[in-house]
Amino acid sequence: MTQSPLSGPFGTVIIGAGQAGLSAATELRKRGYQDPITLIGDEASLPYQRPPLSKAYLSGDLTLDRLWLKPEAFYEKSQIEVLTNTRVTTLDRARQLVITKDGREIAYDYLILATGGTARRIPIPGADLMGVHVLRDLIEADGLSAALDQARHVAIIGAGYIGLEVAASARKRGLDVTVIEAAERPMARTASALLGGWFGAIHRGYGVDLRVNTPVEAIVGDDKAEGVRIAGGEVITADLVLMATGLTPNTQLAESAGLSCNDGIEVDDSARTDDPLIYAIGDVANLPSARYGRSLRLESVHNAIEQGKAAAASIMGEAVNYDPVPWFWSDQYELKLQITGLIEGADQRVRRGDPEEGRFALFHFKDGRLIACEAVNAPQEYIAAQRMIAQDKRPDPEALRDVTVAMKTFLA
Ligand SMILES: Cc1cc2nc3c(=O)[nH]c(=O)nc-3n(C[C@H](O)[C@H](O)[C@H](O)COP(=O)(O)OP(=O)(O)OC[C@H]3O[C@@H](n4cnc5c(N)ncnc54)[C@H](O)[C@@H]3O)c2cc1C
Repeated sequence: MTQSPLSGPFGTVIIGAGQAGLSAATELRKRGYQDPITLIGDEASLPYQRPPLSKAYLSGDLTLDRLWLKPEAFYEKSQIEVLTNTRVTTLDRARQLVITKDGREIAYDYLILATGGTARRIPIPGADLMGVHVLRDLIEADGLSAALDQARHVAIIGAGYIGLEVAASARKRGLDVTVIEAAERPMARTASALLGGWFGAIHRGYGVDLRVNTPVEAIVGDDKAEGVRIAGGEVITADLVLMATGLTPNTQLAESAGLSCNDGIEVDDSARTDDPLIYAIGDVANLPSARYGRSLRLESVHNAIEQGKAAAASIMGEAVNYDPVPWFWSDQYELKLQITGLIEGADQRVRRGDPEEGRFALFHFKDGRLIACEAVNAPQEYIAAQRMIAQDKRPDPEALRDVTVAMKTFLA
């Protein structure tokens, strides 16, 4: 349908041309949505995958042309108008329109906020020195990659997934790598102590100097980073510093438009905000989880895709109850880690397989229910666990521990 500035339909406007925004746009068309779809992004490029930025793209094993989520022709064919290099600065709910940085007003019938997040820079002295990097987008990944080409000593602040993946890439390039983590183990926010400790040992085995329980005080250097000063005063030499210290959700537009925000934009189980015409999806959304009895903000490709689909279904008038079992993966060295569910509250754990062989799974239970699985090079265990968790199953822990019992037995 044609859009006139004075009369609708104006269709759906999506702010944020990332994984979630694209998923919503694609799903709307798949479901037969006929009105205009405008996907607005402030980056220069069409939607691309972020996970390889700290993995295969950074190590040079995957080239730029493999990063795109859809080929350029897809957007025209699907009649999805993509505005790149376009930042939305104002959301005017009363007039149902958004205003871009260059003053353009774009009206909507429905609005989807898919604005993701920004890599957090911890506010310490030296945080703005040259040679201090963060990693969220393609430009930052290209900058980091070029800097790694010149670097010898790399310090990574934060032993979460991104920090550890970059550490693995940097070791592959033969660089000296120190990872500095304030918590007592790597991946402390999301992974079990056993898994975090095991990954820590793997990184040390590959020659990473991993410092845990180590708060960072400052980045030192005159005009360029030369080292990281840690608690106690030691300075770790570094000509490249990566701050891999988490994400701040991009809620500014929503907040200034008066939408409820609390660690993300608050939505209901159909991804709708407290304005019935506005949805929020992906990394920026804080969703209610009946499954976990609390709200969650998930930073994963799976959530971005599925919550995008949920918003589209809701716009199409379907009753939606989005209450996901989270899942996530990480690639480090030759290890593929897959995590499904959340380990919080677990009261029993069994291990299947031998970590010494580099292939095992940890199953976490609460009150007899399987609630999470952490699988290392163990895709069958992971897939079976994902189904069991979604179905609230109570598999026999001892049988799960026994590698002679095939995983498919548990799905019967
Ligand atoms: C290095 C890295 C590795 C990762 N690895 C994994 C992994 O292994 N597995 C996994 O599941 N997940 C991984 N993730 C997380 C995953 O990529 C995100 O969960 C996912 O991209 C979220 O999608 P999104 O669409 O919500 O946000 P984004 O992909 O961040 O997209 C949001 C877009 O909105 C734009 N935007 C923001 N504000 C405005 C505005 N006002 N106007 C216009 N545009 C705006 C942003 O610039 C951005 O382009 C990784 C992320 C990174 C950075």
